[in-house]
Amino acid sequence: MRMIPMKIWGTPLAILAAGCLLSLSACSAYSDAPTASASGSTDATKLQVAVAFYPFEFVVDRVGGDQVAVENLTAPGAEPHDLELTPQQVASLSTVDLVVYQSGFQPAVDTAVQQAHPKQTIDTASFLTMMKASQDGADTGSSTSAEDPHTWLDPTNLVTIAEHVRDALTQARPADAQAFADNTARLVDDLNGLDTTLKSELTTCAITPFITSHAAFGYFAKRYGLTQVGINGVEPDVEPSAARIAEVQKIAEANHVTTIFFETLVSPVVSESIANDLGLKTDVLDPLEGITADSRGTNYLEVMASNGTALHKANQCS
Ligand SMILES: [Zn+2]
Repeated sequence: MRMIPMKIWGTPLAILAAGCLLSLSACSAYSDAPTASASGSTDATKLQVAVAFYPFEFVVDRVGGDQVAVENLTAPGAEPHDLELTPQQVASLSTVDLVVYQSGFQPAVDTAVQQAHPKQTIDTASFLTMMKASQDGADTGSSTSAEDPHTWLDPTNLVTIAEHVRDALTQARPADAQAFADNTARLVDDLNGLDTTLKSELTTCAITPFITSHAAFGYFAKRYGLTQVGINGVEPDVEPSAARIAEVQKIAEANHVTTIFFETLVSPVVSESIANDLGLKTDVLDPLEGITADSRGTNYLEVMASNGTALHKANQCS
């Protein structure tokens, strides 16, 4: 993955000063940052796009190509559900050419977009069909988040997002319309190829349920005809109750589940303990909420392919 150092796109000095007062570390980050980007020819000539979390970074990178510099508001290795933004990140949104986010998922980003009035925004929740949070996931008692935010785990949703990104970038820079269209066509080919592979891998499986760390795979399960059982609900960092763990164990035994899945960005302790109790295997099923050195692949396509391989094996698919 291309790492782009955090930039301060024409942030007003007054706001920078406020950021320094609030956070010394943010302040020193500024003084370390060279005035021109370390990577050389970036910035001035490129469209500046801020994205809320990894899968949107992947799409904008592919659609925008060399014409675009992307800033991911969620740091690599951070878990996007409980994202907090620095004052300078909030300020940066008022100068970028485009912000790609999903309202209802990260309250800090929703607030920042309202405050910063970006030139253009893409709110994926405004055009994707949102599912209700899975009943199979644990009921964490928070009745406020009734929608499942994990739209990106259905590759066909990424196709739709890519088309919106193409249109927004074209509006920002019509001269590069052809490049954006060509890049999008290639990305759509790749996403459709992934979708075809996953379908063929997961259509005929001896075991239908799969047990995940948090209930991130509702859109994925619906697309590929499987059933997700989240140890946690749609929020990852909740301690599951003893009753929920017992329930998951019962489902695992009744369905002859072979594997308890865990994630790269969330502690595997609960998954491992359930697997140990039942004598089952553990494996990674990655909800792609970020990419790190531990990810099984360097980008969305590769990690999704790894997910398909892991499920194919665990659920005994033919
Ligand atoms: Zn999640």
